Amino acid sequence: MTTVLEHVRRRYETTDKKCPDYGYVDEEGNWVSQTARRKLVYRHVCPSCDATGEQTFNLK
Ligand SMILES: [Zn+2]
Repeated sequence: MTTVLEHVRRRYETTDKKCPDYGYVDEEGNWVSQTARRKLVYRHVCPSCDATGEQTFNLK
């Protein structure tokens, strides 16, 4: 499981923090990860319009 988490984290740290609504790219911000029972949720709130981008991964 650690491997999966690291893989996903690395992927998102190098992915553009792009606004889901307007495509505004947040250069300063970062994804915030949150682990639920069997899920890993990545969130990014756009500083421009407060739209929230969310990616969910199921952990095995
Ligand atoms: Zn936005």
